[in-house]
Amino acid sequence: LPFLRRLRRAGLAAALLLAACTSAPEDVRESRFIMGTLVTFTVSDTPRQQALAAIKAAADEMQRIQNTFTIYGDTPNAVKAFNHQPPGRPMPLPAEVDALLQTSLAIARASGGAFSPALGAPDLLWGFSLPDAPHAPPPARALTRAMQGADWRLLAHTPQGWVRQHASTQLDFGGIAKGYAIDRAIAVLRQHGVRHAIVDAGGDMRLIGSHHGRPWRIGIRHPRRKTTVLGWLEAQGDIAIVTSGDYERFFIWHGKRWHHILDPSTGQPARRAMSATVIASDATRADAWSTALFVLGAEGLPLIRQNGMRAVLVDAAGRVHATPDLQGGVSPVAFHPAGENP
Ligand code: ADP
Ligand code: MG
Repeated sequence: LPFLRRLRRAGLAAALLLAACTSAPEDVRESRFIMGTLVTFTVSDTPRQQALAAIKAAADEMQRIQNTFTIYGDTPNAVKAFNHQPPGRPMPLPAEVDALLQTSLAIARASGGAFSPALGAPDLLWGFSLPDAPHAPPPARALTRAMQGADWRLLAHTPQGWVRQHASTQLDFGGIAKGYAIDRAIAVLRQHGVRHAIVDAGGDMRLIGSHHGRPWRIGIRHPRRKTTVLGWLEAQGDIAIVTSGDYERFFIWHGKRWHHILDPSTGQPARRAMSATVIASDATRADAWSTALFVLGAEGLPLIRQNGMRAVLVDAAGRVHATPDLQGGVSPVAFHPAGENP
């Protein structure tokens, strides 16, 4: 009899396990190489075929945005054409480019110029996004020349279109286009009926819904130890989490780290942070502000709060700072430093 009872219990356990499987289908996860990084789409609680079709459409949309905004490669687009337009002569930009430029300029103003969409000339000169990665800083004289017109206030909006007022006033959406692409990907997933998903572009992400009824759990990378996390964010609903760091694209020269996030006031790599993570309601803003916060360092945290966002910052000395509401673990986002048990 005890044996029979045990058998019955095992049968019941197996049945429960099966029920659990059918009520919580596996996530559909696909990765594509877009915008110079591995983009991973995770869709949950959606039939597999529907999820795959949604992911394909979202990936195509991200690729389209990459082609629309990049200043690299040979394929023509309006942004490259604008950068070669004679200074002083207006050029209308396509509605989508116009809109992201307006957003960029608003954030440039609000961040006191820490974020600038007018760094095309110095960015190309440093060359961090070129096929051949640089090993040394550019000549000082060339950088001075590139910086002369690299000021967002030299981008003028006229009834005839946009004007760049100096030969080295050039657009670069590198600090915001990835966030915009993530937002568009989420919109496309939603159009396909997806309610629970993460679009993760190399650590920059937006998530919607929940993970089988529980918050999504996101690790924030330690800027110096590749396999270690600073901590975990638990979030659900609709939240973007974007990090700017000095550890993705850099070289060491004369014992110093030279990386791709420039201080717009000098044209040199910003020195006040190792990584800046911004949490906002959309990835476009989170992307631009994470770049701005990286440039500003810990002094920029009040600005992040005033603009209704949250952040985790690792300063130049490696100290971890967070906006107060995150430390309290206020819903819908909670930050759990590594070592603390959520
Ligand atoms: P990542 O592209 O690694 O996610 P960011 O979002 O911080 O990092 O963007 C960095 C890119 O943005 C650079 O490669 C360059 O194209 C551009 N950029 C560099 N400095 C700035 C800045 N201060 N403001 C706006 N864009 C910047
Ligand atoms: Mg950015």
